[in-house]
Amino acid sequence: MTSPLQALLESNRAWSTAVREQDPHFFERLAQQQAPKYLWIGCSDSRVPATQIVDLPPGEIFVQRNVANVVSHSDLNCLSAIQFAVDVLKVEHILVVGHYGCGGVQAVLDDRRLGLVDNWLRHVGDVAIKHGELLAAIDPMQLRNTRLCELNAMEQAVNVCQTTTVMDAWERGQKLSVHAWCYSLFDGRIKDLGLHVTSREGTRSAYEESLARLLAVPGAAQ
Ligand code: ZN
Repeated sequence: MTSPLQALLESNRAWSTAVREQDPHFFERLAQQQAPKYLWIGCSDSRVPATQIVDLPPGEIFVQRNVANVVSHSDLNCLSAIQFAVDVLKVEHILVVGHYGCGGVQAVLDDRRLGLVDNWLRHVGDVAIKHGELLAAIDPMQLRNTRLCELNAMEQAVNVCQTTTVMDAWERGQKLSVHAWCYSLFDGRIKDLGLHVTSREGTRSAYEESLARLLAVPGAAQ
């Protein structure tokens, strides 16, 4: 009987062969060392594969993904990925990448019960509560999803800035910046949310300025 995963293994073999035909030493080089410049913190959604949507090959992005691209102050998994990326790999940019139409964000807006994941999504719920007045004024729901996806990416990027790893890196003068983006499933384009933080002291003003700029433009359907 053919394994249901046979197709995946076969396409892996074909991919490996094609890559080696184009660059015979590609895997040898990568196997020796990874030196990515970027840490990508994104949603687990299968439609948002980090390297593919910015058209980069393996080895260029260190990736941490979870449901609704949350950066929780007590999530050892995400904190460890940030620490390894900053202290060991010395990435220069941390990208928090939300995506429009995120199911986790929508579940929060709908107050829908999905199971255990509801506990995790409380972090997005906190963002929704923080910006409750603003969100309540947005109609229809699709635009509310758009806005909360953006706000969530920005708030989680601020959480990155407040980790001890990032604050310590800035303290010792390491070149590191934190950004918030939002990807559209509908056209494959990434929107830069305008939040770029390069220092601990600059975090609050960068957040407030980018939020004001974002809100000055009425949310477009994504
Ligand atoms: Zn999502």
